[in-house]
Amino acid sequence: MKSSPVGARINSKSKKLIIVFVSGLIIFLFHFSAFSQFESIKIKPQKTYGPFENARLFFSHQKNYIPGEPLNQTVKTIYIAINIWQKDDGTGNFTESEALYDHLLELTERLNMHFRSTPPPTHPVKGIEYLRDSHIRFELKDVGFYQNTDLYEVGCFEGNRLNEAVFAISPEKRKFLNIHFTKGTCRGASGYANYPSSGSSGSDSYVVSFVKHDRDDLESVQWWALMLHVAHELGHNLELRHPYNSEFCQTSHPDFLFDLFGFEKQEWCNNPRPGCDICFHEGSWGCAIEDPETTCTNNLMGGNRGAGNITPLQMGRMNRALALKSVRKYAWGYSSVPYEVDLDQTWAADIKFYQDIVVKTGSNLHLTGTLKMVPEASLIIEPGARLIVDGGRITNALYSDTNWQGVIAEPSLKTGFLFWRREIPEGELVITNNGIIENYFR
Ligand SMILES: [Zn+2]
Repeated sequence: MKSSPVGARINSKSKKLIIVFVSGLIIFLFHFSAFSQFESIKIKPQKTYGPFENARLFFSHQKNYIPGEPLNQTVKTIYIAINIWQKDDGTGNFTESEALYDHLLELTERLNMHFRSTPPPTHPVKGIEYLRDSHIRFELKDVGFYQNTDLYEVGCFEGNRLNEAVFAISPEKRKFLNIHFTKGTCRGASGYANYPSSGSSGSDSYVVSFVKHDRDDLESVQWWALMLHVAHELGHNLELRHPYNSEFCQTSHPDFLFDLFGFEKQEWCNNPRPGCDICFHEGSWGCAIEDPETTCTNNLMGGNRGAGNITPLQMGRMNRALALKSVRKYAWGYSSVPYEVDLDQTWAADIKFYQDIVVKTGSNLHLTGTLKMVPEASLIIEPGARLIVDGGRITNALYSDTNWQGVIAEPSLKTGFLFWRREIPEGELVITNNGIIENYFR
């Protein structure tokens, strides 16, 4: 839809007065323009749409979700559940005890250490500033014990079956990312996990870990290794791949990890795989990271016993998944630092926000997509700004306990003094083409 310029709404009488005085006051104005309030009102050109004419590209790029970027101000907590599969008679795996629960809580805390304070990379790429905090945490919401000899032994790619068996008994666990400990095997792997899917809710994530501990002594369990394994699998749930066989290997790919592989073919790389610009790293649990003859690193996804580092672009990709992909439904958090829209933009994306959105004075936000807001978040339209919900939808995030805070159109504002005094009209909300704003408090 066409929008009428905000400038036209400014009181025309005071505009004339300004014109009369303008010639004599150019220097005065020039001096003031650097900080006077009305500059931001008058100067904003009413373009049809700004540089992100359609913000799809902006929202799709992993680098825009690196912690600290405007789109990622929020530390998010992913709710997880651990399900322990036993045989029909209750044997074959961990049994329920206070001590086991403590170990699993500790495992979660160590997981959080890894994601809050990731160890520095053993093989840093020159020119990259590495970060510690991924902005991702985990909270253990439930530990369940399930007796089913068939499911206790399932092998590869049965995560959905395990999930559904759990949901049949405990439907509320659909709200958590479920981690299953089973006896199964899958071509020598220690477990597997699924990637998130695009779009609203669709698929449920899962981790399947081949863990069966059928003795009583919990002290003999290699908890650290188990934690590293779970961290790796959760990385897959958040869209990370293996630097040793499945990461994007073309430097032109939008998701290429420059901060893991470097900007060009490695010196040691003689024969990249067909179609690849770089060589994959070596990946095995026992690979000696410090040995200059090896190419393994301490990356979280490297499959090494020394694994840990998460690169900034990996952090960006994981946080992008928490905004755009199905795995976002398990994540919660809010930052009071808003995301500011200060250009005319069209948003067609389906995206979850963990912060307020502020449409700044003089800007139009044209929404054709879907915004999923966490309960704490608001959408604020400043005076002289406009939100057009054009067939789009603003709603609360899936599995929210409560509504979101709603749209706040700020009242009109008087600025300047004497002849420069003018009024910026109140923020404007336009709903058209069956646009929807729902499940809000206000
Ligand atoms: Zn893996």
